Amino acid sequence: MSFCGYKSEIREGDTVILYLTINQYYSIEAKNTTLSKKGLPIQNVVQTPYGSLACGDLIGKKFGTKIQLKKGWAYILQPTPEFWTEILPHRTQIIYTPDVSMILLFLELKPSSIVIESGTGSGSLSHAIIRKIKPSGHLYTFDFHETRVEIVRKEFADHGLSDFVTVQTRDVCTTGFGEELHGKVDAIFLDLPQPWSAANFTREMFKSRGGRLCSFSPCIEQVQKMCGVLSNLGYQEIQTMEILQSNFAVQKRKMNVLNLNMLKTPNPNEKENDKTEKEFSNFVTSVPPNSLPGHTGYLTFATFPPTHSIYCNNLNKNV
Ligand code: SAH
Repeated sequence: MSFCGYKSEIREGDTVILYLTINQYYSIEAKNTTLSKKGLPIQNVVQTPYGSLACGDLIGKKFGTKIQLKKGWAYILQPTPEFWTEILPHRTQIIYTPDVSMILLFLELKPSSIVIESGTGSGSLSHAIIRKIKPSGHLYTFDFHETRVEIVRKEFADHGLSDFVTVQTRDVCTTGFGEELHGKVDAIFLDLPQPWSAANFTREMFKSRGGRLCSFSPCIEQVQKMCGVLSNLGYQEIQTMEILQSNFAVQKRKMNVLNLNMLKTPNPNEKENDKTEKEFSNFVTSVPPNSLPGHTGYLTFATFPPTHSIYCNNLNKNV
């Protein structure tokens, strides 16, 4: 339940991040018992490289506490969407935090936003969207893969997020997002192999004041096709970007410096070697990388303007 908001004390059933090192952290449930593979109740114990931990012992402890294990220690931390993105069980490719942050910003999400997402996949982006729009907003997320929908629905429930999200099995490319959402949505996010098919169903979803759309695609050919379709549908401000992390190298460099002594009128009494003094300087600088690996996908953003939105909503009422 601890995804729902910050709290100081761990209660029974809370999700806790067991943080060993920067590369080793796990998600655990603060419960005394869990179910075995055969469905029988057993003691809830996790094994770590530094020794085992009975998860029930965490109940009543404060988030942020350092706990002792047999061969070392760990920190017990509050879960966040950023942690969850790193440790969630992958059922699909997922969207990572650098892309997530740009999506939340450029979709202009805020508490109270109503958002459509498809496909749900492993729920990485969904967790970040929910944190941004709750308590009064709502996420409607769709995936045509039934098992993925069931798993992610259980994860949302375990994390105490069910009030802010509706998950549905649906092929959005052939059946759209459902009439009940017509005219109710502020933003739409698509992570689909053929987003242009779903795009045909997006216009009538927006509120009369219009809204924002984002489509994530790994290939530039998908982007080209999507941009053409969005433009034909009346979307404006169509913009595609790629988020690449760039680590600068810190290096020592030698550089010529202007020797001001050389500009002076020569003084016959001055020693000769004063002229060449300090012509080079050593300094520390940062150097950008020659290439930027780490392509995940292109983010295409677009605005559906208010006038178009009103037109689509009226069309809808007249049918
Ligand atoms: N953004 C997600 C990952 C999505 S992976 C995350 O961050 O976790 C893409 C998902 O789209 C897959 O789960 C796939 O089942 C779903 N999908 C593909 N085509 C679809 C369609 N036509 N309708 C609904 N879902 C679809």
